[in-house]
Amino acid sequence: MSGSLELAGVGVSFDGFVAVDGVTMSVRPGELRFLIGPNGAGKTTLVDAITGLVPATGSVTFGGHELVGRKVHRIARLGVGRTFQTASVFEELSVLQNLDIAAGAGRGPLTMLRRRSAVPAAVAEALEVVGLADLRDRQAGVLAHGQKQWLEIGMLLVQDARVLLLDEPVAGMSAHEREETGQLLRRIGADRTVVVVEHDMDFMRSFATSVTVLHAGKVLSEGTVAQVQADPRVQEVYLGR
Ligand code: ADP
Repeated sequence: MSGSLELAGVGVSFDGFVAVDGVTMSVRPGELRFLIGPNGAGKTTLVDAITGLVPATGSVTFGGHELVGRKVHRIARLGVGRTFQTASVFEELSVLQNLDIAAGAGRGPLTMLRRRSAVPAAVAEALEVVGLADLRDRQAGVLAHGQKQWLEIGMLLVQDARVLLLDEPVAGMSAHEREETGQLLRRIGADRTVVVVEHDMDFMRSFATSVTVLHAGKVLSEGTVAQVQADPRVQEVYLGR
């Protein structure tokens, strides 16, 4: 399906150690797919494989393009974006300047002198979507932890990412920030393909529309939250039953 992220038999090995082992999964636009699994299950490595950070075998396609074998920046340009556990924003610059740079407009000093009326539509929209419009002139370095994560998501939006891979977006957030983030994911996920790597099970229960459970590099279970929670294999891995 157009706009779907399709993985078929994806594998990643490090010096003979198989970290991701034949993962097949399909995520459609409009889904909030949560990728869960114990530490070391291969979640981050799988995201690294999709985004070209580590070499992979098998096939990853998006919008009809094969991503395996492509370079990181080419994959990003095809509309596949990711965040990291630690938000990577330019701390010295304002919220607006961060979004400008992400949009590719941050070249040269004129950007710094930009007038209010000159904010590009994509940047203005991203500010609204991530809820940072009132803080656009605030220095990114002084933002609250949650706000930095939202800014990073905004930076993907201005790059027109159609697939967003988010690595533990609510780690270290307050309950209020988690709720806000969930609502944000619903907004951006309405017409984009979103995969969330997450340890926070309450957050997953509240916002996931589908779940893939990884264990030892393989897909252990997949389905709705209720389906994977009821799966005895998942209970065994998580609870040792
Ligand atoms: P998760 O994100 O589910 O906690 P990871 O993807 O980080 O799991 O790691 C999966 C496995 O791959 C782990 O056993 C980890 O030690 C191993 N691994 C990850 N990255 C590397 C690497 N660069 N070199 C060697 N082993 C790695």
